[in-house]
Amino acid sequence: MQYISTRGTAPVLDFEATMLTGLARDGGLYLPDHVPPMKMSEIASLAGLSYEEQAYLVMRPFIGSAFTDEEFREIIARAYAGFGHPARAPMKQLAPNHFLLELFHGPTLAFKDFAMQLIGQLFQAALKRSGDRVTIVGATSGDTGSAAIEAFRGLENVDVFILYPHGRVSEVQRRQMTTPTESNVHAIAVDGDFDTCQALVKDMFNDFEFRDEVGLAGVNSINWARVLAQVVYYFSAAVTLGAPHRPVSFTVPTGNFGDIFAGYIARSMGLPIEKLVVATNQNDILHRALATGGYVTDGVKPSISPSMDIQVSSNFERALFDAYGRDGAAVAQLMDELKSGGGFQISQGALQYLRETFASGRASEEETAATITRTVGATAEVLCPHSAVGVHVAEANLSATPMVTLATAHPAKFPDAVEAATGTRPALPERMADLFERPERVTRLPNDLSAIESHIRENRTV
Ligand SMILES: *Cc1c(COP(=O)(O)O)cnc(C)c1O
Repeated sequence: MQYISTRGTAPVLDFEATMLTGLARDGGLYLPDHVPPMKMSEIASLAGLSYEEQAYLVMRPFIGSAFTDEEFREIIARAYAGFGHPARAPMKQLAPNHFLLELFHGPTLAFKDFAMQLIGQLFQAALKRSGDRVTIVGATSGDTGSAAIEAFRGLENVDVFILYPHGRVSEVQRRQMTTPTESNVHAIAVDGDFDTCQALVKDMFNDFEFRDEVGLAGVNSINWARVLAQVVYYFSAAVTLGAPHRPVSFTVPTGNFGDIFAGYIARSMGLPIEKLVVATNQNDILHRALATGGYVTDGVKPSISPSMDIQVSSNFERALFDAYGRDGAAVAQLMDELKSGGGFQISQGALQYLRETFASGRASEEETAATITRTVGATAEVLCPHSAVGVHVAEANLSATPMVTLATAHPAKFPDAVEAATGTRPALPERMADLFERPERVTRLPNDLSAIESHIRENRTV
């Protein structure tokens, strides 16, 4: 299996190099050169297996010879051992034909643990073999950073530095980043917003001297290994509901288009997914793009579902690549237009391609809150605001095909919005109930590239 860039000119890489590289050198995103199909009988045989065994069978064709079968099984076992539910991704029923896939039983209570825990183990195994050491640097609005710190804490040959906007993440998110005691994890509170943090990280990657000196590596949502890890739960949910003999639809609360793109890969492998419904909050660039064909950026409006407050949805580039018949030059041109003019028009043919797979909808702030209130009343299920965006949009897209909505975070991660909607403050799961008592460790730094680079140089352990 080889990996190619969506902009067509970066070197072709194998799985391991793709994972360690992250962003392609031509600015594009890596994708497999072909998607390995799964036969009906292979999909059917996943039913009833453990999540780990399903993960092994779904992901194995994508990793080539990077790891032996036994190594890969062990990596998967370690990745999911810390989850607080034996099914890893259990399902609840909300209504006669509507199901909720709970993806928040990982160590930081958001679906990002599924990918990040796996990537931590994959990095560790690859670096052990090569003897290389890396410094992972990432920017976060909350969930990615906590998941990355949790995944890499205590691992050998890796330091992880996470930049978050000072005062702008929830207390649970902050504490998940600042309370781990391992010396290889470093939380940095930056004076600025999420865009400031992201720009600083980008500048570090473009500072080649610094990049080489510290062995900079990225684990943001464009990393192919993260997408791959998320393909698995589409299969696990679908076979539980009768696939491949019965089709299933999914609704996915979306920001960077990573999670829903994993569903697209599952569908491309042969999983009978009828519709993939994009659910956005009031930051609805993806919904507008699918509805009108115009992908036009607009200012970010802070919402009660902050992990989806996104302006430019990076992984959408991967869907565009297929929609344009895998024409890297065409994608590169769209991305140039986006950079210079703030938007682009999707061609008629490409739009038609996208609409065959994707539907879309949005939830306003009021609709999101009302969905939390209504759902707890009807089913006793307490939704986080992101999951509520999904449920609201899914309800407008129900049909004879079973609908699965992805619940992307635990309600206790966003207690203020949930309390406002339900009157009850959601409690943290037992296993992390002492989060508020653990001492915090964080460095506050100004929006200054050289100050942050010096901090990283002086504090990395490897
Ligand atoms: C990251 C995140 C999302 C959005 O996921 P994408 O892959 O960026 O579309 C939705 N909900 C929660 C809770 C998240 O942390």
